[in-house]
Amino acid sequence: MQYASCKSVEERPGVQWGELEIGGASEARQSEDDSAVRDPATGAVVGHVPALSADMVGAAVAAAHAAFAGWSGLAPQERGKVLRRLAALIADNSADLASLLTAEQGKPLAEARAEIGSAAAYFDFFAEEARRLDGEIVASPRADSRILVAHKPVGVVAAITPWNFPASMVARKLAPALAAGCTVVLKPAPQTPLTALAIAALAREAGVPEGALQVVTGDAATIGAVLTRDPRVAMLSFTGSTATGRRLYEQCAGTIKKLGLELGGHAPFIVFPDADLDKAAAAAVAAKFRNAGQTCVCPNRFFVHAEIYEAFLERFLREVDRLVPGDGRDPKSTLAPLIDVAALAKVERHVADALARGATLTRGGRPAAIGGTWYEATVLENVDAEMLVSCEETFGPVAAISRFSDIGEVKAQVNASPYGLAGYVFGRDISTLLKTAESLDLGMVGINAVHLGLEMAPIGGVKQSGLGREGGHAGLLDYCEQQYLLIGV
Ligand code: ADP
Repeated sequence: MQYASCKSVEERPGVQWGELEIGGASEARQSEDDSAVRDPATGAVVGHVPALSADMVGAAVAAAHAAFAGWSGLAPQERGKVLRRLAALIADNSADLASLLTAEQGKPLAEARAEIGSAAAYFDFFAEEARRLDGEIVASPRADSRILVAHKPVGVVAAITPWNFPASMVARKLAPALAAGCTVVLKPAPQTPLTALAIAALAREAGVPEGALQVVTGDAATIGAVLTRDPRVAMLSFTGSTATGRRLYEQCAGTIKKLGLELGGHAPFIVFPDADLDKAAAAAVAAKFRNAGQTCVCPNRFFVHAEIYEAFLERFLREVDRLVPGDGRDPKSTLAPLIDVAALAKVERHVADALARGATLTRGGRPAAIGGTWYEATVLENVDAEMLVSCEETFGPVAAISRFSDIGEVKAQVNASPYGLAGYVFGRDISTLLKTAESLDLGMVGINAVHLGLEMAPIGGVKQSGLGREGGHAGLLDYCEQQYLLIGV
C-alpha cells in the first residue's frame, strides 16, 4: 500500500494487531485532511484515514499500472500461492479482524467472524481458480489455419466497495482480480476502510507486490472521478446502491470500461402452504435481520400463503422476539445498529409510509430503547405493492409481510420490480419450487435455503441489480478479456 493506509499499519513492518491504533490515542497525530472512522455503536473514533487528493489517486493508478506487467507475468500457480498465504493470514488473524470489523461496522461479533471466514474462503477458492485460466482451440473451417482463444487479465481494476460487508465484499473483488493477474486500486466505503486496509496489509505480507494493490481513501466523488475517467483503469468493479452504480456507469462511458456491478435488490421471500414452517420462519428471520437488514440480498417482502399465514407468523414472531439489540462486542447482542443516522431516517420513513397507507404494525416500529442508531426489529402486516417497503430497499430491520392465494400475482409483482438480485422460496413440492424459481427474474434464488454468498457460486443480479457475476469460475472470467488468435499454418 503506497498511498493510503491505516497509519499504525503503515509505520510498522508486518501487521501487529495488538498495536493497531484504535481510538483516541492516534488522534493527536492526524492532519486536517484525515477523516475519522466512527464506531456506529458508540460514536467513538476508531481510527483515521487520509483524504487523498485527485493527484494522489492518479498516482495510485499509475503504480497499479506499472505493477501490472510483473503481476500478470507471474505463473498462475505463483499468484495462487500468494493468495493461499493471504487466506491463511486472514484465518490466523480472524479474531482481531473480526473485532476491527465490528468496531467500524457495528455487526455482532459472531457475524463479523463468519464474514472474515468468508473473506478467507474467497482467497482460498481463487488461489485454486488462478490455475484454471484455460483457453480453447476452436475447430477451424480451413485446413491452413488454427483458432486459439486465450483469457488475459483486463489490466488495472478499480474496485469500489460498500460498508455493509467490509471484508467479504473486498475479498470478493480482490481475490478473483488478483488471481486473474489484474492489479487493483481499491476504494473502500468511508464508514469502513479499516478492515480493507488491514486485509491489504496482510496481502503485502502474503507477497502481493508493491503497487499491485493500492487502497485509496477520502472523498468518494473525487476518487470516483479519477478511477472512472483514467484510461489506464480497464475495469470498474462496484458494489453498492443502484443510484451510485448508475452514476459510475455513466462516468465510465468516456473510456468504455469493462463493468462489474452488484447493485441494489428487493428480495421476495415466498412461503408455500407445504413448507416446513419452523425451518422457513427461522431462515426468514436469519436472512432478514442479519446485519440489521443491511444486506443487498436480504428479503424485503414476505409473501406467505393464506392457508398457513397465521401458523407461519406465530413462528416468525417467536424468532423476532428473541432478537437482542446491542453492542456487537456483547455476545448476547444479535441485532446490529444501523450504520448511521441517515440509514435510521430511511427506515423511519419507510415504516411511516407503510403505516400511513394502511399497513398493520405487529412488532417494533420505533428506534430501539437503547438509543444510538438501533431500530427495533419490526414486523409490518397487510403490506401492499404501493408502499415504499414494497418498491425500495429498506436496508433495515423491517419485515414487510403480506398473504397470497394466487402465486401468479406474486410472480407478477416480483417481476414488475426494476431490481432482480435475489429471492427465496420455501415449500416441499420440488416442481412448484423449481418452476417458481425459474419464473422469477432474479440472479439468485434460495430454495429452502438462505445463505447465498458462497465463494464457488456466481453472485449477481439481473435488470437494475447489476452486471456480471462475482464468485465461481464466472467470477474469475469477469476479470479477463478473451483474445482470439488466428494462426496460419
Ligand atoms: P450508500 O449510500 O449505502 O453508502 P453507495 O452506493 O453510495 O451506498 O456506496 C457504495 C460505495 O460507493 C462506497 O464506497 C461509496 O463511498 C462509493 N461512492 C458513493 N458515491 C460515489 C461516487 N460519486 N464516486 C465513487 N464512489 C462513490
